[in-house]
This record gives sequence, C-alpha cells and structure tokens, in this order.
Amino acid sequence: MPRVVVVGASFAGLYAAKGLRRVADVVLIDASDEWEFTPGVHEVLGGRRKAETILTSFHDALPGVEFVKGVAVAAHEREVHVECDGERKRVPYDHLIVCVGCAYARPIKAQLASLDRRAQLAGAQRELGDASSVLVVGGGAVGVEVAGELAANHTVTLTARESELVRDLPEAARRYALEALRSKNVRVKLNGEEERGSFDARVACYGARPRTGWLATFVDRDARGFVRVDDRFRTSMKNVWAAGDCVAKDADQYLAAYAHFEGEYVALMVASEILGKAPPGAYVPPARIVALALGPDDGVLCYGRVVVLKGRAVPWVKALVERWVVRLWPLPYELFRRLPALA
Ligand SMILES: Cc1cc2nc3c(=O)[nH]c(=O)nc-3n(C[C@H](O)[C@H](O)[C@H](O)COP(=O)(O)OP(=O)(O)OC[C@H]3O[C@@H](n4cnc5c(N)ncnc54)[C@H](O)[C@@H]3O)c2cc1C
Repeated sequence: MPRVVVVGASFAGLYAAKGLRRVADVVLIDASDEWEFTPGVHEVLGGRRKAETILTSFHDALPGVEFVKGVAVAAHEREVHVECDGERKRVPYDHLIVCVGCAYARPIKAQLASLDRRAQLAGAQRELGDASSVLVVGGGAVGVEVAGELAANHTVTLTARESELVRDLPEAARRYALEALRSKNVRVKLNGEEERGSFDARVACYGARPRTGWLATFVDRDARGFVRVDDRFRTSMKNVWAAGDCVAKDADQYLAAYAHFEGEYVALMVASEILGKAPPGAYVPPARIVALALGPDDGVLCYGRVVVLKGRAVPWVKALVERWVVRLWPLPYELFRRLPALA
C-alpha cells in the first residue's frame, strides 16, 4: 500500500489519518503522544479541571496507524526528517499531509519541545490559583473564555487592542459576551487602552503563529508563514497537502471544526488519488458553528451569523462536543457542508 505521512496529530491530522488508514500505510508524527483538547485549556487554567482531563492518548483511538513521536524538522520530496530523542530519523512518504497548527503563547499552548505538558499546565493552574488579580491580554475567543473562567475566583482585567471583543462573532453574540463578562465584574478595556495597574498574574491570549518554519524552502507560504493551498488543500509541491490552522485561509476559519473538516476532506482527496477514483468537488467550508464559553455556567452558541443559544446550556453543548470529538467519532464534512447557512 502507498505510504501516507501525516505531521501533526490534532483535529486536522487525526481525522486525516483516520480517513486514510484503510487505503494506505499511515504514519502519524507528533511532538507529543497525547492529543491536547485546546478548547478545554481555559477550564484547566481556572482550576475546574485537571490537566490530564484534556490530554488523550491517541494510540488506541487509531488502530492500524503507526505513530512516531518526534518533531518534524525538514521535508524533502520523498521523506520527512524527524528529531526523535536527539536522533534524526528519515520517514519516507508517497503522500505527505501537513497539519502542524499554530504556536501560541504559553501556557495556552505547549512548546513543541516541552517534555511535560501536564506539569506545565498544572504549574500554570497553581500560579493562577495563588493569584488574586489577573490581567488577560487579548479580546478574541481565547481571551474572552479565559477571562470568563477566571472571573469566578479572581479579579480579572481583560485588555484588547480592538474596539470590540470577539469581532468574528455576530453582533448579538459580541454584545452578550461583553455584558456577561461585565456582570462577572471583569474590567474590560478596549482600543488598546493602557493598563497601568499591577497584577499577580498575566495570561497572554494572542499571537498565533503557524508552526511551518521547517517548511520554508519546501512549499509556498504567505508572508506570515501560513502554507498556501488550493481549493483542494494541495500545496505547491506535488503529493504534499496541508490542512488545519497552518494553512492560509479566511480569518474566521481558524477553528477546530474547520481543521477537522479539512483533515477529513484531504483524506478523501488522497484516497481518491490512491484508488484512482474521481476526486471530490472543491472544498466548501461548512457554516460556522462557534460555542463561546463565558465561565462555567454561561456562554453563547452561534450558527452562521445567528445566535442560536445563550446561557447555561452552552457549556453543556461544549462538553458534549468534546466527548464526541476526542473519541474521533464522525462529524461528516459531506453532511455539514450541506447544512443551510443562517444569515
Ligand atoms: C485556548 C484555545 C481555545 C480554543 N477553543 C476553541 C473552541 O472552543 N472551538 C473551536 O472550534 N476552536 C477553538 N480553538 C482553535 C482550535 O484549537 C484550533 O483551530 C485547532 O486546534 C486547530 O487544529 P489543527 O489540527 O490545525 O492544529 P493544532 O491543534 O494546533 O495541532 C497541531 C499538532 O501538530 C503538532 N506539531 C506541530 N508542529 C510539529 C512538528 N514540527 N513536528 C511534529 N508535530 C508537530 C503539535 O504538537 C499539535 O499536536 C481554540 C484554540 C485555543 C488556543
């Protein structure tokens, strides 16, 4: 069978590997042997969950897929070079799928070389637990979720450069989020208003950067380093594909759900090449579904440009989605792309 190497075992890479394991020998490479459910990080930071509850070993979830723990450091036409425990390993491929996502400030995301993410998250949890006042920097979904979570036990200030929070959400959701945070006594400072107070702790919730430096001379990337792909997630190199947060795409598509759909779609594309079948039609992003948590007992759920749910039920919806996704149960792209968008 042809050999498919997938670099990055998270929303995009895991679903790509899952979709291909019956038609190819799939090798999955990741710096960590545990999949971190990033949408749950704010709950760990707030002390509501232990670090291990958002880390899942994927060995059992994907029988038939070979796993290599290591950091991909270079790609060539037929092989990827991976640093494994100080040794450089060459991993040959017929098709390469790059799903390496974005780096983010710690403690929100692990450094690739970080040996013990559990300890890192537990340390951040302790540090925040000891803090009384916390400055959260960043007015996107991550900053808002972290601020909402910490507000129960801390005096929280949230600063953002923008004039509004969660600008990619519909107007009604933006308003709801702002009011919810204010009702929890979060001091929200917009427009880059300078924050002069002193704080016991600071959480940076901005600055995602694609982890694609190792691909610099191999595939075309945009000025910020996102991999350029066509409407079928082909890169500039033959037989090399990319999906998820590491690709250049519309700003509102850097979400787990899209990473998953793209991973699944790439698997369809690669499978069609392997089996000599007609490829699927060009990728069409399904309608945007976002559940924004605003603390343990509040949130807002948007479908397209419409707010479909507010309040207590939203964290439950998020929890349900998590249980589904970490088991790699199906969320078929073909079904979701047919759902009507609500304007
Ligand atoms: C705090 C937080 C909360 C979020 N909440 C939500 C939410 O509620 N809903 C939502 O839809 N989205 C949410 N997102 C966004 C979502 O997490 C991302 O869109 C999603 O993780 C992207 O998936 P991915 O597979 O493309 O990349 P990632 O999840 O970033 O995974 C990339 C993988 O590649 C590995 N990797 C990277 N480089 C290398 C290398 N060189 N060698 C080997 N392995 C490598 C990494 O270890 C990692 O496992 C959140 C993001 C953050 C940071």
